[in-house]
Amino acid sequence: MLKTSSLMSTYKRAPISIAKGNGSFVWDENGNQYLDFTSGIATCNLGHTPEAVKNALIQQLDQLWHCSNLYQIQVQEDLAHILVENSCFDEAFFCNSGAEANEAAIKLARLYANQINNMKEPEIVTFKQSFHGRTMATLSATGQEKIQNGFEPLLQGFTYLPYNDFSSLEYVKNRTPAAVMLELVQGEGGVIPADKEWIQKLDTICKSQNILLIIDEVQTGIGRTGTLFAYEQYNFEPDIITLAKGLGSGFPIGAMLAKEHVARVFGPGTHGSTFGGNPLAATAGLTTVRYILANHILQHSQIQSKYILSELEKLQSHCPQIKEVRGKGLLIGLVIENANNIVQLAREEGILILTAGENVVRLLPPLTVTKEEIDLFLKCFKKILLKMER
Ligand SMILES: *Cc1c(COP(=O)(O)O)cnc(C)c1O
Repeated sequence: MLKTSSLMSTYKRAPISIAKGNGSFVWDENGNQYLDFTSGIATCNLGHTPEAVKNALIQQLDQLWHCSNLYQIQVQEDLAHILVENSCFDEAFFCNSGAEANEAAIKLARLYANQINNMKEPEIVTFKQSFHGRTMATLSATGQEKIQNGFEPLLQGFTYLPYNDFSSLEYVKNRTPAAVMLELVQGEGGVIPADKEWIQKLDTICKSQNILLIIDEVQTGIGRTGTLFAYEQYNFEPDIITLAKGLGSGFPIGAMLAKEHVARVFGPGTHGSTFGGNPLAATAGLTTVRYILANHILQHSQIQSKYILSELEKLQSHCPQIKEVRGKGLLIGLVIENANNIVQLAREEGILILTAGENVVRLLPPLTVTKEEIDLFLKCFKKILLKMER
């Protein structure tokens, strides 16, 4: 651990320094091993340093690192193609992070409202406890005061409504905003899955009133919830989704996918990014998505999800500290008091886990996690809960 740091204090860092990773495990500078059930916050979905992505990146390092988006980039085309072929969308835009993907979605929705619906001050509805990023536009879209406080004036045009609440649908129906933007499982907000009937009704309203439906899949996307995209489990087709975390297996890349009728308004000069979809980032993204599809990783993750959820529910039945087990796929939340304490105790036992929202422990194992690794986690987690009781 560094004694003095030249870094700004924007993160509350745990007192270990991660030096190496492989599969579901990482090692600190002193060689101590940790089972990583954070996956770099839903990013290393294939585990750490996956061979296929590593080899593709090494090959690309020999070919070309960067060239601007003023030229055609085949690997970026290929990544766009595999994403649209495996989704309901027609076109992709690439950037470098989740916040940037959401910025792009906000810009596209505003331009669409302006050009197609002739709205001069388009309103975008978002939800309480949501998380959409830390840039000025995306923190303005985020329905959490603790993330906005001190950064006023915020970007105008956002309205924050209660999540999973049917009164919010009345508002949307009566107001006809330009767009509604939401996560299908609120990740940072506490691992809160959207209600299916609520989403169905929201979709019906949006479709009938030409309101754009933007789904922030930065955390839920790329297999995290058991399907390539979480929207597939809700039987509807959004107009726009945003991706980032899991897309590059740890190499920074973000993306926005949209239906043709919406994507069309983004003509030359309307938006851009120097690094967006650069050859290295696009290689990481393409290899990650190809690997997931070719190796039945989604099916594997669904089996592991069923197993860990059923074991956690068993644990809950004789452990009153656990108030609720929820989530989708391998995005799992345990409602429990002293979540921060549990994360620290787990780290001391060699297990990395996260919190989310208030008193929620968040588990994000890689999609490639094995039953043996889940058993190792469960054994250790039970020990910690026993310790806490005493
Ligand atoms: C992490 C996250 C973001 C922000 O992504 P960055 O890459 O940190 O900018 C946005 N939306 C959701 C749902 C996220 O989980």
